[in-house]
Amino acid sequence: MIPEITEEVAEPQGSATRPLLEVDGATLQYKTKEHLVTATYRIDFKVYTGDRFILLGPTGCGKSTMLKGIAGFMLPDEGTIRLNDGVITGPGPNRMMVFQEFDQLFPWKTVKQNVMFPMLASSRFSRKDAEKQAIRFIEKVNLSKFTDVYPHMLSGGMKQRVAIARALAMEADVLLMDEPFAALDALTRLAMQEELLQLWDDLRFTVLFVTHSIEEAIIIGNRILVMSPHPGQVKAELNVHQFDHDNQGGEEFKKLHDKIHNMLFADRILEEEAAPHA
Ligand code: ADP
Ligand code: MG
Repeated sequence: MIPEITEEVAEPQGSATRPLLEVDGATLQYKTKEHLVTATYRIDFKVYTGDRFILLGPTGCGKSTMLKGIAGFMLPDEGTIRLNDGVITGPGPNRMMVFQEFDQLFPWKTVKQNVMFPMLASSRFSRKDAEKQAIRFIEKVNLSKFTDVYPHMLSGGMKQRVAIARALAMEADVLLMDEPFAALDALTRLAMQEELLQLWDDLRFTVLFVTHSIEEAIIIGNRILVMSPHPGQVKAELNVHQFDHDNQGGEEFKKLHDKIHNMLFADRILEEEAAPHA
């Protein structure tokens, strides 16, 4: 029996606060006539307002599936997912998603029209307010010069900034980000991580951020949920001090990195140790 590494984390200090998002024993499965795939198994976590909450784990451990559950595209087969005390039963404009793919923008709409789209589609904003809000958030992601251009004119990083502006402009309860920087080159990725943190400093939104990169998890997150390989289960939940790229080479960063690395790979090491040598 492989010992579980789990760590209890104190809930936010002095809080009578209730969690904004509460995932309680959530098992999420894909069912076809022939197959049943259990993607996440009895996952528990709580996200509080203003958290930069990370789901970290290897490819296939169910991170995207967990986000789909929170977005309301899939319902749990076991357990519940609550937002603001209400059980999630389907998609809604109080949760906005940013994906990894650069093609998440409408190619036939300009940057401004893309950012305005969910505000108009959800009828949460009048046309005038949606336009004002779009201009404000396009400025926040430093794309004011590109307000009226079409996505094919933009680099991958710029497209991701449009997707972020579009999601933030909705002022949803929680921003769901599924490896949004994973397809970017290394330097752009670092710049985007910093920009996201600056936006958070400015706006204090709540974000649930999926990554398979330990470095990215430590840079972005204030809390990290470490998940096991398929089917995804919770291995540990950690609080993180604020790090940025300047102290990434530091001793404390390295210690935390190694600790998480060991958690992620503990099973593999134990399996290798248990396997008979050839
Ligand atoms: P991650 O995002 O952590 O890489 P996913 O949530 O995409 O993982 O996938 C978790 C598991 O669910 C994997 O085993 C994957 O093959 C399976 N899976 C994902 N999408 C589907 C689907 N549409 N139908 C069947 N199985 C799926
Ligand atoms: Mg994924």
